[in-house]
Amino acid sequence: LFVCFEGGEGAGKSTQSRLLRQRLEAAGRTVLLTREPGGTPVGAEVRRIVLDPATGVLADRTEALLYAADKAEHVESVVLPALARDEVVVTDRYVDSTLAYQGAGRSLDAVELEQVARWATGDLRPHLTVLLDLEPSRGLVRFAERDRIEGESLEFHERVRAAFVALAGADPEHYLVLDARSGVEEIAALVWSRVEGLLP
Ligand code: C5P
Repeated sequence: LFVCFEGGEGAGKSTQSRLLRQRLEAAGRTVLLTREPGGTPVGAEVRRIVLDPATGVLADRTEALLYAADKAEHVESVVLPALARDEVVVTDRYVDSTLAYQGAGRSLDAVELEQVARWATGDLRPHLTVLLDLEPSRGLVRFAERDRIEGESLEFHERVRAAFVALAGADPEHYLVLDARSGVEEIAALVWSRVEGLLP
């Protein structure tokens, strides 16, 4: 089973992916918890390059290709082997983040970008994507409180959010959209009730 968490900054993806892992493990499942960018040694390098302010501004296509390289490495060396071992893979961000940030955020062509992302991942799709939806102004506050630097405008993050919501709306069967303002335990319980029903 392949489950993905998506959402903007400060929506609680990392917390919820850890809570899901705990519940899965308590149910006797072996879990691989991973993330993009950065789920592999090469991915960690990509993460350093794209997120280090010292890198300066990258060309949009360069950034998109670096994220695509992170994904290709992640899927082939981490995600697919774990799925082949019948583990549950939980990833913090996946293709939707690319479509939202590099597509809607940076304004790269959505169709072309999706082709690149599908190619990079061999079109591996999650069985479920949990979208933790949050108004960017709230998320960025949480984010700033954690002392991390975020250079993009509020408007950029509004486009990112709208893209996540549109992706979920186009394929409701494979998405669970939750209000990230809800309590941590409440969200975790909703995630668990959906994931439990998908377990093989
Ligand atoms: O998941 P996390 O919040 O740690 O991601 C770090 C940053 O990477 C995010 O703030 C997001 O702006 C950026 N990102 C991106 N495009 C992706 C994935 C992540 O711009 N495809």
